[in-house]
Amino acid sequence: MNKFEYMERYGFEQIIYFYDKATGLKGVTVIHDTTLGPALGGTRLWNYASEEDAVIDCLRLARGMTYKSAAAGLNLGGGKTVLIGDPNKVKSEAYFRALGRYVQSLNGRYITAEDVNTNTKDMDYIRMETDYVSGIEGKSGNPSPLTALGAFHGIRASLKFKFGTDDVSRYSYAVQGAGQTGYYLIQYLLEAGAKKIYFTEINDRHIKRMKDEHPEVIFVAPDAIFSQEVDVLVPCALGAVLNDQSIPQIKAKIVAGTANNVLADEDKHGNMLRDLGILYAPDFVINAGGVINVYHELHDYNIHAVHKDIEKIYDRLLEIFQIAQEQKINTQEAAKVYARNRIAMIQQIHANYIKR
Ligand code: NAD
Repeated sequence: MNKFEYMERYGFEQIIYFYDKATGLKGVTVIHDTTLGPALGGTRLWNYASEEDAVIDCLRLARGMTYKSAAAGLNLGGGKTVLIGDPNKVKSEAYFRALGRYVQSLNGRYITAEDVNTNTKDMDYIRMETDYVSGIEGKSGNPSPLTALGAFHGIRASLKFKFGTDDVSRYSYAVQGAGQTGYYLIQYLLEAGAKKIYFTEINDRHIKRMKDEHPEVIFVAPDAIFSQEVDVLVPCALGAVLNDQSIPQIKAKIVAGTANNVLADEDKHGNMLRDLGILYAPDFVINAGGVINVYHELHDYNIHAVHKDIEKIYDRLLEIFQIAQEQKINTQEAAKVYARNRIAMIQQIHANYIKR
């Protein structure tokens, strides 16, 4: 992979490699775009098969964060850190404090947070060396209920666009995954009086929890979730679940959930859904509740303000669906158009010098 060519093609600003002799900390930070503000993105710890795999993952995730924050109306750019190592072996106070020192060396151009295999305890160690970290214990807390809340508003917006009413109680839902976000989202749907909810899971503990707490939510086998006769399919498990095999099975008229990278191939499968008349709520817009929450932690944290901001996902999605309709493009593409428009517009208003 020619990294400079890739950076030029997709507008990346910076790739930083770091290696700490004392702790063996080894990783990469990518800053994609800071037009809107400091690049924010979590730190992922993974035993990558190769250095190339780690860099590619980091580039892809950093760029995704630019779109996500831009579309969420936040004054943040996109970035990411990946650490190369075995999560069961490398973690220690010194390891994360060493990372904190690298983050500090970027002087606020990049702000880190939790991601796969890192948690609030690790963030607390990073915090000992830098202020440029979010997701601290006792501050904004677990993002999952807020991600679920954002998806709930996103489902309402999708209903409104597709059926002309956002009355959740008139429709039925099939939820894939009742882990963190799926569990909370089902509760929001129940509170709103959802007509019927089916769910699937592969983790026995999560199946039992749902059956014990909400026996009215009906369990179905994992491979039966796509073909349920429901109005809304709600992916809250893994990525790439919408593909050549699953899409033809879908009976729902809406796909809207918390999962990231739901479309196996954004262009192909985004178009496939559109051609079938299935409204797809773009993942990085509907699941932005968590990043909105983290953003507030960087300022004066107030849960009411967070809820108000998360509610805006409703109007934002309606705007994006409108763009898709007008420009005859799929909704995932429309979401990128929306994000790019915001970045371009803010860049323009910064063109004239104002002394602050
Ligand atoms: P989680 O691991 O808590 O829950 C996912 C659940 O899906 C697990 O319980 C797992 O057993 C289940 N699952 C996996 N494969 C399945 C299958 N084939 N069929 C049925 N169930 C299956 O994760 P989460 O935090 O709820 O995140 C879910 C998705 O939402 C992920 O794609 C994540 O990237 C995305 N997301 C989460 C947040 C957040 O705040 N947690 C924010 C943004 C996006």
